[in-house]
Amino acid sequence: MPLDEYRAKRDFTRSPEPKGETRKKARRRGPLRFCVQKHLATQLHYDLRLEYEGVLLSWAVPKGPSLDPTVKRFAVRVEDHPLEYGEFEGLIPDGYGAGVVMLWDTGTWTPEVDDVEAALAKGDLKLSLDGYKLKGSWALVRTRGWGRSKSAAGDDGKASWLLIKHRDEWSGALDITEFAPLSVKSGGDFAAILAADLPDVWTKNPKGRTDGDLVASLTKIVEKVEKLTPGKGR
Ligand code: MN
Repeated sequence: MPLDEYRAKRDFTRSPEPKGETRKKARRRGPLRFCVQKHLATQLHYDLRLEYEGVLLSWAVPKGPSLDPTVKRFAVRVEDHPLEYGEFEGLIPDGYGAGVVMLWDTGTWTPEVDDVEAALAKGDLKLSLDGYKLKGSWALVRTRGWGRSKSAAGDDGKASWLLIKHRDEWSGALDITEFAPLSVKSGGDFAAILAADLPDVWTKNPKGRTDGDLVASLTKIVEKVEKLTPGKGR
């Protein structure tokens, strides 16, 4: 899925999200990065992103990763994101994905396959993660669930996958999303990120939006954060 799809979904005069350099420009040397962003949008979910060929391959994981090898976490492959988005933490004031983004984990990843493209095509990508919270061996496995092919619901080829922890020294019963709910970037929860980011949003993105729209949008986001149970979603 090209970055065109990502760009098409966002109006960059209205959103502080990174614009996304071209594939060629963005490619870099060194270990491949990964991140997991905890995203309070329409629904709270986690976005797993793996750097590959100059973009971030992306899966939305509603319940977030589990360290328990017997737990398979549903994941939806979504459009590739630009590399610099992998560092993003803050407020998406309105539009697609409106809400708060927390950098929940970050680090490097290594494919445990020779050919990543082939593994993705086959729907079975084995990988290892070296983050602050997530480590060791994992698998992303495509399922035959909804979204495998174009559907009447307008699904554009997005497919359902499962995110599974392999049994190793980093697997276990610990509920990592409960145990380590906060940002690895700021150390904060959603409320702290929202509070810290408001001035940026107001000064950087006043164009193309009436105060009324922005206030309404921000009010919705604040209400969402307030509704979270402390220690759970936060
Ligand atoms: Mn998301």
